[in-house]
Amino acid sequence: MSSVIKILPEQLCNKIAAGEVVERPSSVVKELVENSLDAGARSIRIDIEGGGKRLLRVSDDGCGMVQDDALMCLERHATSKISTDDDLFHLSSFGFRGEALPSIASVSRLTLKSCASEAQGGVELYAEGGQVKRVVETGMPRGTIIEIRSLFFNTPARRKFLRRDETELAHVQDVVLKLALSSPQTQFRLYHNDRLLIDTPASKDLAERIASLLGRATSRELLQLESQGSDNLSIAGYLSRPDCSRSTGSAVYTFINGRYIRDKVVQHAIREGYRTLLPKGRYPVTVLFISLDPTQVDVNVHPTKHEVRFREQSRIHDFIASSIARRMSPSDWVARAATDAVGETGQDEDLSSAPPTPPHAPAMPVSSPEGLWVGEQLASYRPRIGTSESKASSVVSGASVDSFSPAPVASLEPVAVDCVELPPAEASPGFFASLQVLGQYSNSYILCQHEGDLLLIDQHAAHERIRFEELKGQFFSGCLSSQALLFPQIIEMSPADAELLGRHLTSLLRLGLEIEPFGGNAFAIKSVPALHIEEDVERLVRDLIDDISTQGASFLVEEAIESTLMLMACHGVVRARQPLSEVQIRALLGAMDAVDFNSHCPHGRPVQVRLSSREIEKMFKRT
Ligand code: ADP
Ligand code: MG
Repeated sequence: MSSVIKILPEQLCNKIAAGEVVERPSSVVKELVENSLDAGARSIRIDIEGGGKRLLRVSDDGCGMVQDDALMCLERHATSKISTDDDLFHLSSFGFRGEALPSIASVSRLTLKSCASEAQGGVELYAEGGQVKRVVETGMPRGTIIEIRSLFFNTPARRKFLRRDETELAHVQDVVLKLALSSPQTQFRLYHNDRLLIDTPASKDLAERIASLLGRATSRELLQLESQGSDNLSIAGYLSRPDCSRSTGSAVYTFINGRYIRDKVVQHAIREGYRTLLPKGRYPVTVLFISLDPTQVDVNVHPTKHEVRFREQSRIHDFIASSIARRMSPSDWVARAATDAVGETGQDEDLSSAPPTPPHAPAMPVSSPEGLWVGEQLASYRPRIGTSESKASSVVSGASVDSFSPAPVASLEPVAVDCVELPPAEASPGFFASLQVLGQYSNSYILCQHEGDLLLIDQHAAHERIRFEELKGQFFSGCLSSQALLFPQIIEMSPADAELLGRHLTSLLRLGLEIEPFGGNAFAIKSVPALHIEEDVERLVRDLIDDISTQGASFLVEEAIESTLMLMACHGVVRARQPLSEVQIRALLGAMDAVDFNSHCPHGRPVQVRLSSREIEKMFKRT
């Protein structure tokens, strides 16, 4: 029998490598821009067409290449960046594997123009599927222009995986944003189909770059952080005050030795640094640069260098967490929160989430900033949808929480909610309205008595559920009413968010939000859902944008609308930790009767918990 093992041809190797390095247009942009940065570019221009599938061009004013290098750079494992084993562990460049250009070339039509010195002139070469077809001399200023056309033209299977232009564009924007954050001194411009989407001039520092990319509004929410540890370990950058959080982690930007990396250890450390200051499910905005001795971190874990491996994981983790925790201690935002405080704020603990605070925890504000929001007037709530007689009678003696909700969850029938003013229900009080109110506990829970049992109602969860049902009813009946703001509120978005928002203005109108472009990346919010309170508007819009970016354009279709409405419901409802007057408590209970209640808030937390007299007696060993 003859032997069967053979060495693969070079072009096939490149295609295989392309499978790892080149996933989609944004990965090409990443590799090309990193090369430009490695070449010392001061200005980088990115042009893409058709989401980058049709054309993708990166032009820089970096050091350029002489003719031989320009030919050489398409060879596999050809790099100018490292030459010895040792170099691999002292990396100071983005690239080092010498893989990107040959991989990209192998799956596209590539034109490369480069000039290392104007006196000597430049070179232009054209390659198809990695085969160089043409080399000519050309005149051009110093720098490099690499143009990729018809990505994956020779690998149809991979081309099939590419998504719609908008999706690919969003990925490209994301990559450019991260690279631009990593290199504030370099000018970046991104054009899509000749439309300028990102335009950030050379900035004098990171703060200026953040303001230019993420918007001035966001940059005003940020605190500066600078902390030096032992052995060249340091962290520097900006992070949001805990009262300015986001509903997704998409604005948590972290860089390790200048390279954007989303690492689990780092993410966890950041979370830990904020500890209980951030409400559950909320994320900060951060642009943080972690620097450490290159020998302490291995970047060569993954071909695209998205992951790293730390030598001393726990040391890095603890350093990041404690640096942030220290910054979060008595600072401006706490002082601000304290002066803004409305009503009493007691020393009580946050019962919902807080794990026991470690001894080195930062000083906590007396009440979480979230808790300082003024809820709307609960008294305005009254039963709206029919009466609730059935509920009162259907509550039987069972101790189970679920026994309060005999009816299936909210029917989506287009019941007339706010559109047609129903007369207040005058029938006998519903179950909740008939409860005997004992008082409020911890400014968060309403204590009630029902037939000898003790009932605890989570005021925030209850209100959220009410709001959710109302919004849902209004949405499906096509009459989600909105109210015009006295003064339109102007908000500034990052370029990527602005693009996203711009595309969804009509959909947002269906949610009762009237928003208009206001020049550049700014928008004017003109109307808000009628059930909404004003202070919240900007945050609501930002959260909705996060929602859209995770759910895509389908955020208003049946399956997805619930989560969007939940998000809206969560805004502006009465917070946990807010003292309520008796009138307000009564109004809340009355409103609870008006919705088809199942015993959970839209987020799935229980709204009410019942302790039977038997259970209480057992606690006191009376049985
Ligand atoms: P790596 O970046 O890992 O070295 P690449 O395949 O990305 O590998 O690039 C190969 C080489 O081509 C680089 O090492 C560099 O010398 C050269 N090169 C690529 N892009 C540029 C550019 N924009 N300006 C100058 N030189 C470049
Ligand atoms: Mg490279």
